[in-house]
Amino acid sequence: MTPDVLIVGAGIIGAACADALSARGLRVTVVERDAVGSGATAAGMGHLVAMDDNAAELALSSHSLQLWRDLVDGQPQRHEYSRCGTIWVAADDEELDAANAKAAVMSARALECAVLDAQDLYRLEPQLRPGLAGGLLVRGDGLVYPPKSARILLARAVARGATLAMGEVVALEEGAVRLADGSRLAAGRIVLAAGTRCLGLAPELPLRPKKGHVMITDRYPGFIRHQLVELGYVKSAHAADGDSVAFNLQPRPTGQVLIGSSRQFDTTDLAAEPGMMARMLRRAVEYTPALAGLNILRCWTGLRAATPDGLPLIGPDLSRRNVWLATGHEGLGITTSLATAELLAAQMVGAQAGIDARPYLPSRFDAQGRAYA
Ligand SMILES: Cc1cc2nc3c(=O)[nH]c(=O)nc-3n(C[C@H](O)[C@H](O)[C@H](O)COP(=O)(O)OP(=O)(O)OC[C@H]3O[C@@H](n4cnc5c(N)ncnc54)[C@H](O)[C@@H]3O)c2cc1C
Repeated sequence: MTPDVLIVGAGIIGAACADALSARGLRVTVVERDAVGSGATAAGMGHLVAMDDNAAELALSSHSLQLWRDLVDGQPQRHEYSRCGTIWVAADDEELDAANAKAAVMSARALECAVLDAQDLYRLEPQLRPGLAGGLLVRGDGLVYPPKSARILLARAVARGATLAMGEVVALEEGAVRLADGSRLAAGRIVLAAGTRCLGLAPELPLRPKKGHVMITDRYPGFIRHQLVELGYVKSAHAADGDSVAFNLQPRPTGQVLIGSSRQFDTTDLAAEPGMMARMLRRAVEYTPALAGLNILRCWTGLRAATPDGLPLIGPDLSRRNVWLATGHEGLGITTSLATAELLAAQMVGAQAGIDARPYLPSRFDAQGRAYA
């Protein structure tokens, strides 16, 4: 039977959309070229974080965080979930002012947070180097193991009758997709949730790959207890060009430490680059000197799909009939996957979602991918 919706890609976004759409009674098929939860999802740090660069980003991330807490409730270990909280580390008084401003924005959205002076900071995280000014603790943030969560979400959809088809979509046709083996799968609607690879199917989309490296250490339980991010991270995350690194450490429930983060434009080569790793490690050791004594087991990379305004594309693609977009989540797609799926499903069935869908509609860009003034 022809599905109501065919989703291209079973990363965290495609899996979450399959879950949400099947929960609304739609017949769903997901097509995946590689493995469920591969792509950027397998590379992501899994930090579930309220980001407040603008009101729309904060609305999407904070709403999605609540959906994550509801999802993992009662079974956190299945997702390797930990509500570790985030500490935004302030190196000096200027950054402490930024922490205070961030606290005001977050508190206005009822997000639980506390500004830390230096004493509080070292009590919570004694591995941080001396001389820091303080920070901001955001208590509701957490982490998951993204590929596992993608598999759980897709399994929920399959339990409701959704199907997973393995194969590579090579072309979009009217009411169907063409696979690499020549077969054609028809569907009422097609959702592009293929991350940066959406560009292979719809090259005009306003997406740009942004490469990132992540490293993981051996097990050192209790080395740090919160996700630690320098306040300068936001500047690095939103840089429009060039390479950048920022201090970003995560305590995995296994006792391992994940070390992020880097951002590079204009490359889709997934090879790990020693120069970039060295820059990340220097930055991390600047903030946590004892890290220099830990063993690193592995490094990997992934490609984030970045849009010009940093917000995802969620909704109908106005230049192709019955094609919908769920992509462009850049470095926040694990966090915002569940809210994305809710927004997409609500639009498809004409229902109300928990937040306003308009800031994320693809129609904010014209057919050449330029933003309307
Ligand atoms: C280094 C790094 C660290 C990150 N850390 C975080 C973090 O801590 N927190 C956070 O919220 N976000 C983080 N992100 C961002 C997050 O990982 C992404 O936004 C998210 O995974 C995007 O998911 P997706 O499903 O859209 O794309 P992907 O995960 O790339 O999934 C796309 C899927 O589509 C499949 N596919 C592609 N083309 C085709 C085709 N033609 N036919 C069939 N299947 C196809 C792929 O195989 C893949 O499985 C990070 C990203 C990177 C790279």
